Formats: sequence, C-alpha cells, structure tokens
Amino acid sequence: MSATELPAADVAVIGGGIVGLATAYRLLTSRPGLSVTVLEKEDAVARHQSGRNSNVLHSGVYYRPGCLKARNCRAGKAAMEAFLEREGLPWRRCGKVVVATREAELPRLAELERRALANGAAARLVGAAELREIGPTAAGLQALVVPGPGVPDSGAGCRRLAERSEGAGGAVRPGARLLSLDERAPSVRLGTTAGGGEARVVVNCAGLHSDRVAALGGSRPEARILPFRGEYFELRPEARGLVRGLIYPVPDPAFPFLGVHLTPTVGGGVQCGPNAVPAFAREGYRWSTVRPAELAGALAWPGSWRLAARYWRTGWGELRRSLSRRAFAAALARLVPGLDAGHLLPAPAGVRAQAVRRDGSLVDDFLIQGSARVVHVLNAPSPAATAALAIGETVAAEVEKRLG
Ligand SMILES: Cc1cc2nc3c(=O)[nH]c(=O)nc-3n(C[C@H](O)[C@H](O)[C@H](O)COP(=O)(O)OP(=O)(O)OC[C@H]3O[C@@H](n4cnc5c(N)ncnc54)[C@H](O)[C@@H]3O)c2cc1C
Repeated sequence: MSATELPAADVAVIGGGIVGLATAYRLLTSRPGLSVTVLEKEDAVARHQSGRNSNVLHSGVYYRPGCLKARNCRAGKAAMEAFLEREGLPWRRCGKVVVATREAELPRLAELERRALANGAAARLVGAAELREIGPTAAGLQALVVPGPGVPDSGAGCRRLAERSEGAGGAVRPGARLLSLDERAPSVRLGTTAGGGEARVVVNCAGLHSDRVAALGGSRPEARILPFRGEYFELRPEARGLVRGLIYPVPDPAFPFLGVHLTPTVGGGVQCGPNAVPAFAREGYRWSTVRPAELAGALAWPGSWRLAARYWRTGWGELRRSLSRRAFAAALARLVPGLDAGHLLPAPAGVRAQAVRRDGSLVDDFLIQGSARVVHVLNAPSPAATAALAIGETVAAEVEKRLG
C-alpha cells in the first residue's frame, strides 16, 4: 500500500452527513466484521444540511400516505428517539401546532389531519379558543395539534453516530473528497484527495453533491440537485417566552417547503424560519456566495427555468422575506401576533438539496437508485434527518444484496 492509498473496504460511504453516517452505523451494527469507511470532504462530519437544519423530529403530518417519506419518517423517528435515549443525548418532545390563519387554508388543514392520521401520527383539529389555551400566543382560525415532534441537536446526533461507527470497527475519514469513481468488477476504484482506494460496494450520500457523485460513476440521474437556502433568525432572549412549542403555518401542498415557522431549540432558544430562496452555490449560505460554474450548471438545467415559471409567485414572497427582516417578521406575526422585527437576531442559514427533473417537477419522495456496485441516495430532503436511521436500513439492505 503506498502512502496515498486508503485501506481497502467492503463498503465506502461518500458523505458524512446524517444519511451516510446512519447507513454506516446500520451496516456495522447489523453485520459485525464488515469494513466500512465514511469519506467526508470537510474537516468534520455534519458541516452541511445535517448540521444546519431545524432539528425537528417530524411526526409525518405532511406526506402522502404510503410514500417513502411517510414510511421512513415514522420508523426513523422512533429509531432516532431510541438512539438519543440510549446515548443520553439531549432532546425534548415539543408538540406542534399547524395554524390556519385564513379561511382558504381550512381545507388544506383538514387534509393534513387526514394524512397525519393515515401516517399513524396523533393529531387533532382544534378551534381558535382551544388553540389559545394550548399555545397562548399563537392565533388562528383553526389549528392541527400534533403532540409527537421532538427537537434534538442533529449535529450532535451525527457526531455520536460517527463515534459509534468507529467503535464498531468502521472508519470515518474527514478531509477525503471523492474525485473519481470507477466501477469495475469485482470492486470499485475510488480516487480521493486523501488517496486512492478500493471498495466492494460504494454508497453515495453526498447530499448537495449527490448528482455530481453519481455522474463521476458514469450514471446520468434523471434529476439535478438545485440548492435552496433556508435563512433563519433567532428570537431575542426576552421574546422567547412567546413560543412554547413548534408553531407552523399551513404549507402550500404544491411547494416542498413548509413556510417560515417557530422552533424551540434543545438549548432553550427559538429558531425562526427557514424561508426558501435559490442559492448561487451548492453551499451558498449567503447571497454573496457565488460559484460561477455551479450557478451556470443550474441555469443550464431546463428544469430550473420551468420550476421558476411554475413557482414565481411563491418564490417572490420567499425573496421578499429574504431581503426584508420586516417581511420575515410579518410572516411570523401571522402565527404569533405579538412578534415584530425587533425581536429577531440573524442566525446561520442552511442549504437544502432538492432534486428537480428536466421538466421542472420536484422529486417529492426520497430517491434511492443503484448500479451493480454503487447505491445512490439521489434525493434526501426533509424529513431525512428524522428518517435517517430508517433510510440507513433501506440502503444497508441494498448494500447487502450487492455484497452477496
Ligand atoms: C434549512 C434546513 C432545514 C431542515 N429542517 C429539517 C428538520 O427540521 N427535520 C428533518 O428531518 N430534516 C430537516 N432538513 C433536512 C435534513 O437536514 C436533510 O434531509 C439531511 O440532513 C440530509 O442528510 P444527508 O446526509 O443526505 O446530507 P448532508 O448532511 O448534506 O451530507 C452530505 C455530506 O456529503 C459530503 N460530500 C459531498 N460531496 C462529497 C465528495 N465528493 N466527497 C466526500 N464527501 C462529500 C458533504 O460535505 C456533506 O457532509 C432540513 C434541511 C435544511 C437545509
């Protein structure tokens, strides 16, 4: 083995986010003796989506019954709660209200109740008076009360999954960016910034770069990842008392994002957001972060333009909330009337990886596809942090088939 050769592994997982780490953990704990290496391009795990999200363990209110999101959310939430408990990691059950503030939202709220119940989540509709008792500062015509959601620290969960995977004999290699992928029987040849290596099976959990990693291996995914930044504020300490549990608006069912909401954090703060605006780089956490090649790639994808044409009205509202703190606060004040821009402090943003097809349609569900020796996770948006251990189990089963 030369100085620039990585040890050969049965399985190499590309990406040290929650999906890659949960996959490695599932493989290592279900099949002792397997050699599994997680390759992560950053200097530590959970630097992107998995460490920059709302940290909510979702109950499964939003998803079409029977789809992968619905099934994996329920199973994954239970598995993640058990993991957090077993590991002594802090989390708390917060309970959530989805608040309808306009007549037009009432049928959609009823549909959410139907979906929640079909997905096995406890949920019930309440009127304005009962909402005032449950969340005294929230106001609306009607609300769906969902007692199940919890808030952990997603980044801490990732770090613990990495530790446990290493404890079970796996390796987590930060600073190893995948540069090439050559799938030839009986193994896959990998080139990384930390050296070359071989693996019998490779799993692509590269999040915002998953389509590019797939392309390195010669696949042509039907959808391209487009990055959508989610910007946050946090409530000033003196305003935190306005929010006891999770407070959400009724989302637009045609749009994959939930609308700005209020989320207590496990540390005692309150996150406000995220909105959803296009990012000019896959890891574009600010408007000023522009990667010309990535932006050009997104603009050259016909799906980007078709998406923009379809959602320009919703997009315009999101843009206003990005450029004006007052507009952002106004959206929150629809849910909690006492809130204003003076209560908000800037907080770090996240960027979502959303797969978009050539025709501009969004890949709504989780998408996992593979070739003979590579399994690609090509769309793992929210609730993938909630569902990670269930997704990891599904991916691990795909790996097992390929290991034989
Ligand atoms: C703003 C926001 C709010 C969200 N809120 C919630 C929520 O409340 N609840 C919920 O369940 N979900 C939420 N999500 C979704 C959730 O965070 C993601 O679905 C989940 O983190 C995806 O995990 P991942 O491992 O697929 O991706 P990531 O966490 O992005 O990990 C991918 C990793 O791959 C690495 N990588 C990429 N390319 C390479 C390469 N070539 N070589 C080596 N490594 C590479 C990256 O550096 C990264 O660490 C939210 C997401 C965002 C952005």
